[in-house]
Amino acid sequence: MSLLVQKYGGTSVGTVERIQAVAEKVAGFRKDGHDMVVVVSAMSGETNRLVDLAGQMQDNPDPREMDVLLSTGEQVTIALLCMALKNLGFDAKSYTGGQVRIVTDDSHTKARIQSIDEEKIRRDLDAGRVVVVAGFQGSDEDGNITTLGRGGSDTTGVALAAALKADECQIYTDVDGVYTTDPRIVPAASRLDKITFEEMLEMASLGSKVLQIRAVEFAGKYNVPLRVLHSFQEGSGTLITLDEEFTTMEQPVVSGIAFNRDEAKVTLSGIPDIPGVASKVLAPIGEANIEVDVIVQNISADNTTDLTFTVNRNDMTKAKAVMDSISEELGAKAVLTDDSVVKISIVGVGMRSHAGVASQMFRTLAEENINIQMITTSEIKISVIIEERYAELAIRSLHTAFGLDKTE
Ligand code: ASP
Ligand code: MG
Repeated sequence: MSLLVQKYGGTSVGTVERIQAVAEKVAGFRKDGHDMVVVVSAMSGETNRLVDLAGQMQDNPDPREMDVLLSTGEQVTIALLCMALKNLGFDAKSYTGGQVRIVTDDSHTKARIQSIDEEKIRRDLDAGRVVVVAGFQGSDEDGNITTLGRGGSDTTGVALAAALKADECQIYTDVDGVYTTDPRIVPAASRLDKITFEEMLEMASLGSKVLQIRAVEFAGKYNVPLRVLHSFQEGSGTLITLDEEFTTMEQPVVSGIAFNRDEAKVTLSGIPDIPGVASKVLAPIGEANIEVDVIVQNISADNTTDLTFTVNRNDMTKAKAVMDSISEELGAKAVLTDDSVVKISIVGVGMRSHAGVASQMFRTLAEENINIQMITTSEIKISVIIEERYAELAIRSLHTAFGLDKTE
């Protein structure tokens, strides 16, 4: 017998029939003797509907009132799920975030959880009840309703699991786990049985569709075993853990391939190769609130150098304007931009203990005649920037080269 925190997302509770199906599922676990805490999202589409309503009242809806409004979506599903459980003969009790004392700071619409008083939940569990908690919400110290940011129910689930020291936090959703890469691009992509928190964070471009990244960070920090599962299909899903043993021993060195199509490249060519230049280039970018991803600067033969960095595609025009404004002062030859690039990353904790991963990656791309424009590495990740039209070819050949293709 264990204590499980299960979170069901919007599509899993999107209709009355689905809520009943979730109730049956939860009841099954309860029958097997598990202590059950269930976190639910609003019915799918509901939060968007509420956001839309707010927009009809105010151009920039008041954040406090926005939270009062948005939190109602989850309040509907907790009550309905409890009714469905009772209908099956199971005792259950619903709580809003504030009622179960999920205390957050007061940053409305993006609040952070500060503490959870798990005593109430424990009492219910001891009495044999299923506890159903509204995801995505809490209240600040003055009792104002707060919400945790879109997709925040995942974070509620993880936070409750951490507070209750649950055996596992299970995130039920409409996919059956985390994949080695996007199966729409590589049909041979396979579901990972296990992955580490670190890898999951590096795979954010794939993972964020499955899990709120903040929830993964939270789970990693408190070492909450996190499992992603399909709500209505059998299967063991993907377990996200701290444990690295399995990866270094049984699994391939590379766990997955992530990619980001939202990048654009900005190059300053022919700038003087002297101290302070990189700072002069990147400081105004930071001041303009533009996030920089990859940065590459070359050494020079003639005391001038090129500096290239990538930004989000939506920021490219803004970044170019900033560079244009300083390029003369810096003595740059030109400011060049390119938004037809893609970043491809291979990710795996196994890289820590294996040499030759980078060279295998570069060889694979070379064999496909794909030119690498930029390279950046971290302990468990190697990323390259390449021309966008080669994205699928690159992902597919790397997936094969690193032994990730499904075998059956
Ligand atoms: N209902 C909220 C949203 O749609 C929270 C969640 O589903 O996690 O963002
Ligand atoms: Mg969600």
